[in-house]
Order: sequence, then C-alpha cells, then structure tokens
Amino acid sequence: MTSPNYCSRKGHNVQFIVVHWWGNPAHHRDGDPSGVIKHLSTPAGEKSVSAHAVVWPGGVTELIDPRYAAWHAKSVNRFTIGIECWPWDERSPKDLVNATLENLAQQIAHYYQLYPHLADVRLHAHSEHVATECPGKHYRARLNSIRARALEIYQGKPAKQPQRKEIPKMIIFRTPEGVCTIFLNGETKQNPSQALLNALINAGVPVVEVSHDDLAWLEPSKNWQFMASRIKDLKDMETGYPGINPTLKATSLTQQIATSLGISQRTN
Ligand SMILES: [Zn+2]
Repeated sequence: MTSPNYCSRKGHNVQFIVVHWWGNPAHHRDGDPSGVIKHLSTPAGEKSVSAHAVVWPGGVTELIDPRYAAWHAKSVNRFTIGIECWPWDERSPKDLVNATLENLAQQIAHYYQLYPHLADVRLHAHSEHVATECPGKHYRARLNSIRARALEIYQGKPAKQPQRKEIPKMIIFRTPEGVCTIFLNGETKQNPSQALLNALINAGVPVVEVSHDDLAWLEPSKNWQFMASRIKDLKDMETGYPGINPTLKATSLTQQIATSLGISQRTN
C-alpha cells in the first residue's frame, strides 16, 4: 500500500462505494493527480485523509488495500470504499472527462470482483454523508450511468480503451508581469484578452510560467517579434498533454525546452 493513512475495518464488511472529487475543477484542468496522491499519502495527525484509489484521465492509482479502511468519509469509513476522482465540469476537455469516467468504471468493476455483493448496491456521493460539495453535481448526476458501465465491465463486456483526441498544439507563455504570448497552430497571438485567456485555460491549454532568466533567452532584447518567432520554434515540442510534464515547469525550463527541440546550446 502506498498510503499509510488507513486502519482496521474492525470486522465490518464493505457495504458500498463512495465517490469523491479532489477539488475545484477550474484549478485542475490538466488532470494531473500527483498533488492529490501526495496529499492522501501523507500523515497529518488527526487531519490525515486518504482514499482507496485515485482516478484521473490517465489511469488509476490504488493507495490502500480495500481490506482496510481509508479515511475519506468520517462515520462511514469502516464499511466503505472511497475513490477520489479528477474534478471536472462542463468546461473541462471532453476526452479527458470520458477517459476518467471509463477508468472509474473499470476500478469499480475491479471492486465488484473482490466484493460481488457491491454489484447490487448503488454508488454513493460523499455529499450524502457529510455536508460537502464533493463530488460535484456532474458526478452526482452520473452515478447511475457510471455504475451501469461498471456492471458491463464486471459482466465481461470488454473495457473500452480510453480514446485520446488530438489536442491542438497550443501553449500559453506567462511572464512574471502577466501573459505575453499564445502559440496556436503555427500562429502567435500577443497580449490576449482576459476572456480569451480564461477560455483557453479552461479548455486545458497548458500554461508555461516563464521566469526572468527564461526571458533572457527567449527575449534577450525585449523584442516581442523575436520572442514570437522563438515560440514558433516550439511547435514540435512534445508536451505530454494533459499538462506539461511537471519537470518542464521546474527551474530548468529553458534547458528542458532546448532538449525537447534538440538544441544543444543557446544560439543567441
Ligand atoms: Zn469527498
């Protein structure tokens, strides 16, 4: 088990599955589960929380063996399984939503195999047991269809391979002073309106935060035109959507970009 935040079920049987989400969809457009996995795997005294599994567009991570209780829904922990899901809403990328729902159904089917009596029981929303927004209206509205899909898988209908749509090659570069440039399908757009920017970010377009050091490379003479052409060079960069590889966002941003582009050293 990868999380230490669990305890004995004290003889209770698993009675139902509780579905959660891990936060505000607007803050998790990229589908990256690393933050929540760390949170659910870190002891924090009486504030420790956990779940049996985390589901996101790219897969499932099991944190706790379901023979033990996870700490996800207070009074019902002893006799439930808790699943933390990527939070999404109507503005989240559709293909990521569909992949998440399929992964969730597969994980639930896995629990049906371990505990066949669960297949006869409806899914519960966290908000049925605690005063919370979790797991949001979209998950609540789909609990029946998620269960129906899990039953199909459990009964032998093969799992669909999550379909990944090609995402437009689009990146937003944000300087310490604010957004400078969007690169989109070979064209650049400078100083976009806040409304356009919000729409792009809500659609899951990766944002690269550029430090002053990076600007020195990208824009040595504060020449927007030069910077735009430089960004155009990034069009073949493999960003590993959804979400740029976290290491790319780290301090070695320029080195990572140069490596991705096959540039052995700075040419300016
Ligand atoms: Zn919850």
